[in-house]
Amino acid sequence: MRVDVATGLMVGVQQVLSPFFDERPAGVAPDLIVLHGISLPPGEFGGPWIARLFTGNLPADAHPSFVERASLKVSAHLLIRRDGEPVQFVSFNDRAWHAGKSAWQGREACNDYSIGIECEGTDDVPYDAAQYGTLRALLPMLLDVYAIPGDRIVGHSDVAPGRKTDPGASFDWSQIR
Ligand SMILES: [Zn+2]
Repeated sequence: MRVDVATGLMVGVQQVLSPFFDERPAGVAPDLIVLHGISLPPGEFGGPWIARLFTGNLPADAHPSFVERASLKVSAHLLIRRDGEPVQFVSFNDRAWHAGKSAWQGREACNDYSIGIECEGTDDVPYDAAQYGTLRALLPMLLDVYAIPGDRIVGHSDVAPGRKTDPGASFDWSQIR
């Protein structure tokens, strides 16, 4: 597993490219990593639905909770499944649509300058050891390649307080510090 800097893609990682991205603002490189938690349907793991959401293929009629989500245009650079398997949806060179209205240390629009990583999980179920293992392999690589300081790994709840709670109290930050 390594980052191809030219393409912004992980080599040796499954690619499921999302239509939900655009260019980062001119001259802006990633210098923040935002960790998220997601599960579809909420609280269920292992289905195809997160990838379907990020590719614009979530069928509204497959679950009641999908009705309001099916028309969302959201993505992340990476998803880490419960078994630790990473999947890439957007090149790190591009802007994924994961953080929404957000700010970190007074700087707004975190999507412009961040890498978004979704972990399959919920706020109240412990994340899997395999997911932490993947993060421990992945995060130092991203920090190194993009020269991001180690203290700039935050949760969605940190950049959108009051609006977002993920990755939640179930995320054990000591596992990646
Ligand atoms: Zn989130």
